[in-house]
Amino acid sequence: MTVRVPGRPGAELGYTEPLAHVADTIDRIAASGNAGIHEELRVEDWRVVGRSIFPTLATSEVCVTCHNRELGSARFAKGDVMGAFVVESDLTGYVARSLAYAGFAFGLLLLGYQILANREYRRTRAIVELESQVQLERQRREAEAHSNFVLSHDSLTGLVRRSVFMEKLGDICAEGCEKRFFLALIDLDDFKTINDTMGHDAGDALLVAIGSRLQNLAIDASGLAARLGGDEFALLVPKTERIPSMRSIGTSIVDLVRREVTHDSFSIQSSCSVGLSECGPGQLHDRKSFLKYADAALYVAKNGGKDQYCEFDDGIRRDLNRRSLITSALPQAIRHNELSVAFQPKICLASGLPVEFESLARWDLHSKPVSPGEFVKIAEETGTVLELDLATLAKAAEFAVCAINLTGTQVRISSNVSALGFRTPQIADRILDCVTKAGLPPRCLTIEVTESVLVENVASANESLSSMRANGVRVALDDFGTGYSSLRYLQQLVFDEIKIDRSFLQDIAKNNEKHFLFAKIVEMAKGLNKEVVVEGIENQAQLNLAVSTGANLGQGYFFSKPLDQTAALAYAQRLTRDRFGSQAV
Ligand code: C2E
Ligand code: CA
Ligand code: CA
Repeated sequence: MTVRVPGRPGAELGYTEPLAHVADTIDRIAASGNAGIHEELRVEDWRVVGRSIFPTLATSEVCVTCHNRELGSARFAKGDVMGAFVVESDLTGYVARSLAYAGFAFGLLLLGYQILANREYRRTRAIVELESQVQLERQRREAEAHSNFVLSHDSLTGLVRRSVFMEKLGDICAEGCEKRFFLALIDLDDFKTINDTMGHDAGDALLVAIGSRLQNLAIDASGLAARLGGDEFALLVPKTERIPSMRSIGTSIVDLVRREVTHDSFSIQSSCSVGLSECGPGQLHDRKSFLKYADAALYVAKNGGKDQYCEFDDGIRRDLNRRSLITSALPQAIRHNELSVAFQPKICLASGLPVEFESLARWDLHSKPVSPGEFVKIAEETGTVLELDLATLAKAAEFAVCAINLTGTQVRISSNVSALGFRTPQIADRILDCVTKAGLPPRCLTIEVTESVLVENVASANESLSSMRANGVRVALDDFGTGYSSLRYLQQLVFDEIKIDRSFLQDIAKNNEKHFLFAKIVEMAKGLNKEVVVEGIENQAQLNLAVSTGANLGQGYFFSKPLDQTAALAYAQRLTRDRFGSQAV
């Protein structure tokens, strides 16, 4: 590239260096045989002489010379086509144009890039937004599914909860039970004892293992297993070849619960009671009855000795009807004072005299006696047992006051109080109120704690018992040797007397082990300084045995059956007369 500015030394323009360089270049061109051309140059101002490698048009008169030797000294006028020639052009215009083109191109490029980038950005953003929406939706659904799962499934066993099971049961019944279905209600036997003796972890491990076995059985039988709460489970299965009858599902359940569970290197053995009912074509069923029938069957299985299943049948239907009759009639009977009391003497084995009368509730429903074993249990289940106990106690206290007045001697009474009553904190006050209202000194009263249910809160029960004892009331542990955990009670509950259950005396003459156990219980109780009452003495041999062990008191048909109030008063009067002579009465 060369530039020539004739007559204008570069120094004058202050561009010494470039002009010197331009002059050099022109000289070099002239020396190489292009001098003619160089002389023809008319450049008035800064011009760029550029070499174009593409054919182009000369833009002015000032064009120029060629570096291509083959073309020699060809000159070009404005508008001529040149190719690979050195041409002049305005540096500023060229640069400006170039810059403008470059800028424009760059701008275009940028714009293109911008458009592309924008498009890409929008596309990417749309994808990202979409992905994040999908992600959010997925998370929302997962969270919803999780919370639904948590709400509908038991967290320990993973089985569905009661509400879901009931819904399913309702659906099946609503469909009119087109297929035959079996319902099993399952209750673990003595689960509380496992929890209490082996710890809650062991209890949980047992529930988890049994839950998973039931789940497997439900899957196999295309049914549904649920944990209804605590140690209660349920299973609903359709009748299939694999499960053709209630018996087959009952046997499977009982067997799977019997299989031992290992926890922390020790094994847990458990059993369950199962109640079964069915619904299906030809049987009118609603969910309530379906459940009620299984529940009634479960009740029978439990009361019939546990570790078994029971199918609902007509016998149970009759019992169920009776139970509902008693359940609805009992509270009213208690409120209306319709229960009576029988009295059975407790005899001092040394003197043969009655020292106390046990009061036993009696109730006739539609003129037929209902056994206390039946109605007391229902009273416990329906929460009316404390009212029943207090009603009996009130009558017993009146009887004792009468007997004291009649015989002139101190007659003591004992009254049964269900362990359930100790859930009421005011029980001690209510009992003391009851005897003082009747005018009976509290020292004439023994409370027999019956344990058809476990004393749940030993500390608060002890508080009530201690408060009664502080007022002179005696406390007896009834039915010792049966029920829940008599040995634990011995250690934990405050009491004065042990009543050894009558089952110990049955067949005792032939049974050495029973004999040994009986003697040891008496020995242990005496060692603890407790009074011992032997229940259920029915014959002389049993009396002799009781006497030989050193027990203090005896009670049983051998002395007297429970008597009504008049007969009991006469009994007390007669024995007192025998003992103290006619002047005592
Ligand atoms: P329990 O407290 O052990 O009362 C003794 C039961 O044994 C009575 O049965 C009595 O009639 C029976 N019995 C007494 N001697 C003999 C005997 O020699 N042989 C046999 N086979 N039985 C004998 P009952 O009156 O049927 O009472 C049953 C249970 O009902 C009572 O057992 C007691 O636990 C409960 N009970 C009765 N009345 C009440 C009450 O007012 N409140 C509470 N909570 N329970 C009561
Ligand atoms: Ca008793
Ligand atoms: Ca008893």
